[in-house]
Amino acid sequence: MQKLVSRCGNICSDCPWSMYYRQRVEKKNWEHLSKQFKKYVGYYPIKYEWEGCVGCVTPTERLPKHPHYNFLKSCNTRKCVNYNEIDSCAHCSRYPCGNTVSLQGLTRERISTKLDEEISDENYEQFIRMFDSKTNLTDIRQSLSKNQLHDPKPIEKSTLTRDISDRIKDEALKQFYNTLMEIYASDLGIQDIDTLAGFEKLKIRQEVISRILWLVGIQGESDSEGIILDGITLHKNKKTAKLPTNEKGWEIYLETLTGFGIKSILDIKTEDLYTPGGWMRDRIPKSNTPAYYLKMSLDPKFIKFAFFKILKNYIADLQATSGRRGYTKFKNLNTNFFFE
Ligand code: SF4
Ligand code: SF4
Repeated sequence: MQKLVSRCGNICSDCPWSMYYRQRVEKKNWEHLSKQFKKYVGYYPIKYEWEGCVGCVTPTERLPKHPHYNFLKSCNTRKCVNYNEIDSCAHCSRYPCGNTVSLQGLTRERISTKLDEEISDENYEQFIRMFDSKTNLTDIRQSLSKNQLHDPKPIEKSTLTRDISDRIKDEALKQFYNTLMEIYASDLGIQDIDTLAGFEKLKIRQEVISRILWLVGIQGESDSEGIILDGITLHKNKKTAKLPTNEKGWEIYLETLTGFGIKSILDIKTEDLYTPGGWMRDRIPKSNTPAYYLKMSLDPKFIKFAFFKILKNYIADLQATSGRRGYTKFKNLNTNFFFE
């Protein structure tokens, strides 16, 4: 069959999750092949009896109903390529942008290092090559002429909120409002936010940072240095926000907040912070003791306007006046609180 390539550069027609691969493989060989994919790729493919993935080039409305497709639907690279009406990232003039998933794809070198063994050509071609998206995209790119490349289409950004700071009379409230505005309007460490992939990633990070501040405002306990919130409470109330799953992921948020004068750290309370699967725990194993605390304190220039006190009052006001819509108003900084 003709080679079918995913938007990010995987070769769908050779992928063991795909219907194309399954149609070529006999059941008696499946167990052995699955074990090999687990060894090289890190996961067992879904069981043989499943009909198989139709590939991410299939339009979203035609994707079958199966939990497998949830990750395709939420893939920012796929959204970006579709939005730009091109075949893959290789056809984009910005490739490799900071957000294409091909940068995190599998490579022969990475797997060789991880397994601490040489990868033969045969094993590379049979079990890795289909997921070596960077190499696959580079091959496609070399076959294209300059006029087959497309610039990413501009994105329509809805402005987060109307800037009302010049109407706020109280100096402390104005500082508080401006600080939140600046945090929400920052790029939160994301490159290429003028592309759809970058913008989608930004929306996810904005959601996380506003949820963290919201929870700090509701559940955070004040102490002599600032405010403190435990990992269990954070996880229990994160709702749809994708909280970081490791310390490196947290760094982005901690550095951002610190950069705006809200000094933020994670105080880790266990050496057993990660599950065997590599996820950060919210509690110390077999206990209800938090595995970490999020601690925030203020840069001296902020102390005088009591940022955390205003945050708590602001959120209490939103909950009292807007109920469930309070959080939406909080993340849009849309409220009369600043004028009351
Ligand atoms: S799982 Fe990914 S690479 Fe495999 S067939 Fe589906 S879209 Fe293609
Ligand atoms: S902007 Fe990035 S993610 Fe989007 S199509 Fe171009 S390379 Fe791919």
